[in-house]
Amino acid sequence: MENPMVKCSIANCEYWEQGNNCSAEVIMIEVNAHSNKPQPQERDGLPYDSGHQDSAEGITDTCCQTFEERHHH
Ligand code: SF4
Repeated sequence: MENPMVKCSIANCEYWEQGNNCSAEVIMIEVNAHSNKPQPQERDGLPYDSGHQDSAEGITDTCCQTFEERHHH
């Protein structure tokens, strides 16, 4: 399945690009409590999980686990 248009405002993420576009090959969304949960699968070095299901308390309980702080060289 092709990735949808992912718009993101987190400009200090490694995968963020001009125009608020996400360039990550995989984006894993989790509930906040699992923001650091290790994931069993991987593509292009990005971890994800096709099996684990969860239930969020609301919009503020979800997070992008793929976020990686950009380090300027
Ligand atoms: S990986 Fe997540 S935080 Fe980073 S640009 Fe994509 S959607 Fe935003």
